[in-house]
Amino acid sequence: MEISENMVVIIDYNLSSSSGELLDTSEGRQPLAYIHGMGHIIIGLEKALLGKKAGEKIKAVIAPEEAYGTRSNELVETVPISNFQAPDTVKEGVQFQARDADGLHIATVTKVADDEVTLDMNHPLADETLHFDVEIKEVRQATEEELSHGHSHGTGGHQH
Ligand code: ZN
Repeated sequence: MEISENMVVIIDYNLSSSSGELLDTSEGRQPLAYIHGMGHIIIGLEKALLGKKAGEKIKAVIAPEEAYGTRSNELVETVPISNFQAPDTVKEGVQFQARDADGLHIATVTKVADDEVTLDMNHPLADETLHFDVEIKEVRQATEEELSHGHSHGTGGHQH
């Protein structure tokens, strides 16, 4: 069965940066399950997996444009520390989720000076070319229930 839209795909993967640093892996955890074509995984990886079969191993090098985007200075802003509910936890390097008009971002505190906090809402992997090593474990048709829920059930998916 080849990977196409609305298939549940279960993969093991290693994700490395261009410098060879391991950024993420399914090793030691459950494999990752997703429904193809729903934007659950980055577009570049969906493209690389399209048409592949269970048992295949692929390597994919994905440019930032098809991964987590390129950095934008517009996503760096300075806000008063009084905006934070717990100002004493706001320190350089701390990450948290922030919601704005475009949805959910990971915000990283890059500077705390006087009463001002500089936040970087670029994705931590923005500008990174991603190197994936993927082993396709299973490919199957998504069930009606999975499609209506918008996620896969069972191994690597939602357990409910
Ligand atoms: Zn469900």
